[in-house]
This record gives sequence, C-alpha cells and structure tokens, in this order.
Amino acid sequence: MPPKADQSGELSHGRPPFRVGLGWDRHRLEPVAPAGAGRPFILGGVRLDHDLGPVGHSDGDALYHAVTDAILGALALPDIGQLFPDDDPRHSGEDSSVYVAEAMRRAREQGWRVGNLDAVVVLERPKLGPRKEEMRRNLADLLGVNQADVNVKGKTGERVDATGEGRAIDVQVVVLLIPAGEHHGATL
Ligand code: MG
Repeated sequence: MPPKADQSGELSHGRPPFRVGLGWDRHRLEPVAPAGAGRPFILGGVRLDHDLGPVGHSDGDALYHAVTDAILGALALPDIGQLFPDDDPRHSGEDSSVYVAEAMRRAREQGWRVGNLDAVVVLERPKLGPRKEEMRRNLADLLGVNQADVNVKGKTGERVDATGEGRAIDVQVVVLLIPAGEHHGATL
C-alpha cells in the first residue's frame, strides 16, 4: 500500500504519495501481410488507415505498449517484455489492451490509481488529429480515469531518421500514479 500523508502533508514513512513512470516503444513499419510482415495498424486501440503496419508479436499497438511500460515502471515492476515474452505463442496477435489492463490490475493491487497520463506519438503519417479523441477515450476506459486525465499528442519525425522516413513509429508516455484512496472526480 502507498504511504499515507498526515494532515500536514508529511508522509508516515518518508515516501512521496505518488509514483511516476516512463514508457517508450518503437515498432518497425512494413507492408501489411502478406506483402510484408506488418500487421493491420492499430494504435491506442484504433485502426489507422495506412498501407504499412507495425511488425510485432502481439497486435503491435505501440501506444498501449508504452502505456503498459509506464505503469509497470512507476510500480518498479519488470517490463512488458519480461511479463509477456514475445516468444510466447499465447501472445501472438494479442489485443494489447490486455497488457494495459494487467498493468492496471497490478497498480490497483498495490493501492495506486492513475492521476494522469501524457503520450507523444511520433509517426510521419497519417495525421493523428482526427483519431486522437478515440485513443484518449480507449485509454481513459482502460485506466479508469476521465478523458481529461489522458492526453495524446501527435508529432512527425520531420522526414529524418526511422520515424521521419516512415519506417517506424515511436511512442513516449509518462504516467502519474496516486493513492487509490484519493478521489478527484474520476471513478474506477
Ligand atoms: Mg511494442
């Protein structure tokens, strides 16, 4: 259980009443099978219209993977690759929302809930703007927070390096965990 702050804000055993976690993921983009090894392009649980798709053992959802690693990181737990090995056939093609859900289960088990989450998606195309609200909604549902507590930002790679040349997608995520006992308007 997380430490409890007394009325002065002091913690009973000197640990802050929050945890921060960082997640990062990259997937190579290839023509969608059978032309290449790419999977249909799923990001934040949303199907993107693209002639390329992420190469990955699961469904290749880089946003969900980075979110999972951010939560696990905040908990100082083993990372997504350790918990869900990519040589395990049970995870082949798996819907990556199960990884986010498992990370949240572990967070709740330790007495934490999400305060807020912020993500940066680096992808040359398509523009994410029209689909961002769907991704935020999916994440808010999975994390048990309001949509206002989840942000997704789209960036391009400025036509340089793997992302800029359209050969990869990168995602960075930061998450704040707060004690589950504190409620700020969101419901779990
Ligand atoms: Mg991944």
